[in-house]
Formats: sequence, C-alpha cells, structure tokens
Amino acid sequence: MESILEEQPRVIQEFQKIINSNMLSHAYLIDSASSKIRQQVAIWLAQTQFCDNLQNGMPDQTCQRCKTIAMGDNPDVLEIKTDKQSIGVDDIKYFKKEVNMTATQGKRRILIIDEAEKMTNAASNNLLKTIEEPEGNLLIIFLADSAKQLLQTIRSRVQIFHLSNKSNDDEVSSLVEIGFKTEQAETALKISDIKFLQATTGESYKQLSVALSGWMKECNQNKINSFIDVQTDIMPLVDNKDHQHLVFDMLNQIFSDILSIRYNVNKSLLIKEDVLSNKSIQQIVSFSDELFKAEEMWKSNVAFQAILEDLSLKFVG
Ligand SMILES: [Zn+2]
Repeated sequence: MESILEEQPRVIQEFQKIINSNMLSHAYLIDSASSKIRQQVAIWLAQTQFCDNLQNGMPDQTCQRCKTIAMGDNPDVLEIKTDKQSIGVDDIKYFKKEVNMTATQGKRRILIIDEAEKMTNAASNNLLKTIEEPEGNLLIIFLADSAKQLLQTIRSRVQIFHLSNKSNDDEVSSLVEIGFKTEQAETALKISDIKFLQATTGESYKQLSVALSGWMKECNQNKINSFIDVQTDIMPLVDNKDHQHLVFDMLNQIFSDILSIRYNVNKSLLIKEDVLSNKSIQQIVSFSDELFKAEEMWKSNVAFQAILEDLSLKFVG
C-alpha cells in the first residue's frame, strides 16, 4: 500500500490538505488509473478516517485499524462490488440498510462503490437524495473508470478526483498535432472524449471555453444579454454535433469547477474564478439539473441554439 503514495502523489496530497483543514466532503468520485489503484486510494481515504496515528492528514497504514480496513474487515467501511452487469436499485437499498444510514449516532461510516458506472439510473437516483442530504457521518466514495460514465446528476453533486493516467500520451500528442498546447490537451481530455476534441483545434477550443465562461458571467449578473450571447458569441464557434457535445461537457465542467473553487479544492480545470458568484450552491445544483435535461432534449433532436437560449432564461431567472 505504500506504493499508492508514490503512484498518486498529487491526489494523495490534495486529500491530505482537505483532511488537515477538516474540509472533507461527503461524496467523492475517483476515476482514471486502474481499478486496483482506485481501490487503494479509496482504502487509504477510509484509513484517514479511522487511523489511530493519523499524522498531518496521513494514516500510518500499519495500526490495527488501518490493517482491518485494508483487509475489508471493518464493518463501518463497506465496499459494493459486483460481478453482475449492473448495480441495481435493490443492491443500493440493501447496502444503504447495511451501512445503517438512518442511524445518526455520529459514528463514521464509509460506503465505497466499485465500478460505479454499473449503477442503473434507478440505482443512481436512489442515491441522489443521500448525497444531497447526507445522514450521520456517511462518506460515499464512487470509483469508476471514467467519471463521464456516471449520470450527470451524480457528477454534479460530488467532488471528482482524476487519478493520474500515464497511458493517454498518444491522445495528448494527437491533440498537440491539431494545435493544442500539451497542458491544454491534458486538461481537455479530462473533460471530453478524444473523438469530440479531434473535431476542433487548440485555438477554437480555447475560444469556446472563453465564450462559455463569459456567457455564465452574464447569467451571474442576471443580464438578459446572456440570451443574445448564445447567438453572437457561442453559435459562431459551434459548427457540428461534436462541437455541441464539447459545449455540454464544458458547461458540466464549469459547474463542477465552481464547486471545487467554493470548497477550496485546487482542482478546477476550465475556470479559475467563480463565474457564478452571485448564485447559491442550491441554484448551481439546480442549473446542473437543467443542463442535464437540456442535454437529454438535445439528444432527442431539439435544436441546439434553442436549447442554449432556453438555458439562458433559466439561469437568469
Ligand atoms: Zn493507522
């Protein structure tokens, strides 16, 4: 287990900082790297909550409590693992009961959901309320190959940590060939799939990102101009379905970035400032839901521009 500190120093340090400042949230989604490494990070995170010799936010990994967690023998640290094709609503209900979420005696309980992308929509929806209004001292850790595989409604309610993936060098270089800077390509790949990114260029990607955060700033000021921005600033940069896909990915990321900024987690990807500073967390969560619905409408072929204009009105209202 010592290897995890060398394997994923960046994420471990970020969590260490969070734990030291007592800012641990109640739900995390950890993706990328391998399933084994993801699981090790989750175990390490669980150990930080139980270790007898926690020092500077780091568990010793050698005390009895740490060992028990690593062996899967701590009844307060529950891991959902399945060989089935999906994790259904009944599985979630069963584990929620197991983890005894109604008991609020303040005792720390941790639910690790392995292969969270296997959750059915019903299973995900069943967890939404738990994530929104966590009971007792529950910490939920979702593990997935890619955060993008989870429902947007889940993604917008958790903090997402991407483990370092050393294997996407090829994708990065293919983007560098179409004008992305290396760092920009690495960031973009955390947000969107390569097939959509290949339909753009480094410069267009940057322009689109600037246009979308500008649009959000207008919404933040409740300016009705934001409605016009769609036509004047965004649509000229969006030529096809791939670009439209990028817009949805980037908007999702902006909402997630805002939460990171508000929770003082130094991991926002697209924006460095809180572009919706006048809006409450509840409003941002509800914007996120509107965005999810908008994306569903788009998938059923409603015109893209009309969808963004409609979002403008909702974000301003
Ligand atoms: Zn320990």
